[in-house]
Amino acid sequence: MKICVLPGDGIGPEIIAEAVRVLKALDLGIEMEEAMLGGCAVDATGSPYPDATQKLAQAADAVLLGAVGGPQWDNNPREQRPERGLLGIRKQLGLFANLRPAILYPELANASTLKPEVVAGLDILIVRELTGDIYFGQPRGIETRNGERFGFNTMHYTESEIRRILRVAFEAARKRNRKVCSVDKMNVLECTQLWRDVAIETGREHPDVELSHMLVDNAAMQLVKNPKQFDVMVTGNMFGDILSDEASMLTGSIGMLPSASLDANNKGLYEPSHGSAPDIAGKGVANPLATILSAAMMLRYTFADEAAAGRIEGAVKKVLAQGFRTGDIYEPGMTKVGTREMGDAVLAAL
Ligand code: NAD
Repeated sequence: MKICVLPGDGIGPEIIAEAVRVLKALDLGIEMEEAMLGGCAVDATGSPYPDATQKLAQAADAVLLGAVGGPQWDNNPREQRPERGLLGIRKQLGLFANLRPAILYPELANASTLKPEVVAGLDILIVRELTGDIYFGQPRGIETRNGERFGFNTMHYTESEIRRILRVAFEAARKRNRKVCSVDKMNVLECTQLWRDVAIETGREHPDVELSHMLVDNAAMQLVKNPKQFDVMVTGNMFGDILSDEASMLTGSIGMLPSASLDANNKGLYEPSHGSAPDIAGKGVANPLATILSAAMMLRYTFADEAAAGRIEGAVKKVLAQGFRTGDIYEPGMTKVGTREMGDAVLAAL
């Protein structure tokens, strides 16, 4: 097992250090090698995704990433912006499936803006298609037609693109509560009528998983009204972009949310859902749990080691139950800790 570790910018190096300590403590014989991505890579080499990083990422079984970006690179030419590195690695590795769990640990129910009884114990997984849909469709542009400006984009999916993301969702559901809700807008968009047809066909291949369908507008409402009805939600790139952010905000604690982006062979890029938090970088106060939980997802999805993934997740639950909190999830009466101490607590719980 070989992992390419990319700490990145801002709080990236601090939070990655804790995830690496946790992986080492499990003693699974994982080989880890570090490289540069994002603003730090621009400063050192002129490129946000340098050749050496590309080689390492391509050769590895999985990539563990902190975060990239920061205000000092915001005015760089487009090719030298940190986000370019992120788009570059996602594209090069063919990562078409984005998995974002939204879990609200009962101990953190007050962090949500929703009533605790609506969200306490929430555990849903949003599976978003990442390389197709209207975000990539051609033709696209802004032109002048009949004397006025005219903007247009094209939404399209092939049935094979739909089938492969549906299969990821069904396989993920098999590791959870065996329910998939496929989200579309088939009443208006032909492209998503095809989505629904292929979802039904793919559902027949997975009779042990319950399949339901929901229109995207209703899905947005149901996520706020009664989010615990969902197990796995699967949808296209644009709807998934919006719904996955909505779902993550149900939990109110961005420092807790991991993510995975997978290719067709379960090779994956694992990273916290949050950014590089330049406002707290270098202060030792960032919450490392989203990154530690991303490492758990890596063990589950790329290395099929459910037991090791479960050990990490169990340790995180334990430190929350023990009352350890970084600043972002702190409540009076709890024990406030920094990044390193939170890592120590997880190691002790392991
Ligand atoms: P952000 O997620 O970095 O920060 C938003 C707020 O949440 C900040 O107040 C920050 O302090 C806090 N926060 C985030 N992660 C935290 C953690 N682990 N512990 C405690 N608090 C945490 O989003 P932003 O401020 O919009 O973006 C900052 C930079 O990150 C930008 O340059 C942006 O482009 C980049 N970014 C990178 C990624 C990525 O690498 N995947 C994703 C989003 C944003």
